[in-house]
Amino acid sequence: MLPRSLAAAFLALAALSACTTTSTDRPAPVAQAEQPAPVTILISIDGFRPDYLTRGVSPHLNALASSGVEASMRPSFPTKTFPNHWAIVTGDRPDRSGIVANNMEDESRPKDKFTMASDDPYWWNEAEPIWITAEKQGVRTATMFWPGSNVAWGGVKAAEWPYTISNGSRPSDWAQFNEAISPTQRVNGVLDVLRRPADIRPRFVTLYFDEVDTTGHINGPDAAQTTKAVADVDAHIGELVAGLKALGQPANILIVSDHGMAAKSNDRVIAIDKVADPADYRIVETGPYASLAAVPGREKALEAALLKPLDHMQCWRKGEIPARFHYGAHRRIPPYFCLAETGWVFQATTPAKPVTGGDHGWDDRAPEMQALFIANGPAFDTRFHPSPDFTNVDVYPLLARLLGVTPLASDGNAAALQGLVKP
Ligand code: AMP
Ligand code: ZN
Ligand code: ZN
Repeated sequence: MLPRSLAAAFLALAALSACTTTSTDRPAPVAQAEQPAPVTILISIDGFRPDYLTRGVSPHLNALASSGVEASMRPSFPTKTFPNHWAIVTGDRPDRSGIVANNMEDESRPKDKFTMASDDPYWWNEAEPIWITAEKQGVRTATMFWPGSNVAWGGVKAAEWPYTISNGSRPSDWAQFNEAISPTQRVNGVLDVLRRPADIRPRFVTLYFDEVDTTGHINGPDAAQTTKAVADVDAHIGELVAGLKALGQPANILIVSDHGMAAKSNDRVIAIDKVADPADYRIVETGPYASLAAVPGREKALEAALLKPLDHMQCWRKGEIPARFHYGAHRRIPPYFCLAETGWVFQATTPAKPVTGGDHGWDDRAPEMQALFIANGPAFDTRFHPSPDFTNVDVYPLLARLLGVTPLASDGNAAALQGLVKP
């Protein structure tokens, strides 16, 4: 049953509408048909490898690609979710943005650890995301998920309960990430904000889908289940396109992924305790790469074990990682970093359970790690072909251009995608 006050409000509304329909015999003036300006929609399909488009199950994505521009985009290193989503929206590679991994330590905060659930602005404040730059310049934004979009950016979180965050800002509309919110709900969330009156309608919107990545991890990139996840997400892209059409809302749509996916195997596991003596190190992260710190006083022994030719892997002191990775300067990167050959994974010890499925995090130039890029909309010149080495940080100056805002200095090269936007 409705609460009394709510029921009264409904009755009042009904009376009001009855009154307006009978109070005049002249037709109400017809509102001038509004021609909405194009909205920029940035969509991430986590872990979507560009060759998934050739599986014959993605008619909506393929249609957007063929009537727009499609390319394979190089991710930033390491090819992990948070560093790459942050690179796309800040234009800064992980070494500069401070989001150097999905899990991090920071010597300035020895008691704290960053996980994918961390929303303390401390971890995020080193690079400004496009939604903050846009809002500062009068462009309203909305995020239907994106790593970091729930963070009160620029703010300071109190060290003690109730951990109030002061002076932070967020997109005008944002949502706390929750995997249980279905893809259709996410699409409807985007359509709903675009249905609003112009003064509270965003001009920049993000949308995020996780299921292709999740399924790729569990089953591997070549599995039928992963192909089905591609088909599912494609159907949701179809819902979005149909919804925009029904609204008469033109859109410049950018569909990207953060990285690709490569198969793992039980035959391609490196147990770190077989490479070095566990008494000499502490592991920070394992997987396609391993990051380690030496036990104090054991640096020499650890270096003797790691800094030599090893099968299917290579290790460096953090400051000596090859320059092409643009990785190793930030204080959050642990002192020793080992990268496995694509398809090989590090584990602390020989795994008890079989290693199957897929992963990412390897060399950003590995074919399996390449990311998706599709641009479709009235702003784009479809004759443009990006150069094969354009990277995801170049998306940030493109976004700024689409939104008509002045970007901050970044690692992104505005020239890389300059020709994509019609003059
Ligand atoms: P990865 O471990 O690199 O494969 O990360 C992918 C996972 O990140 C997804 O399956 C999501 O569960 C998670 N994720 C994506 N976006 C967010 C977010 N905004 N906040 C927290 N977790 C997220
Ligand atoms: Zn990812
Ligand atoms: Zn993943």
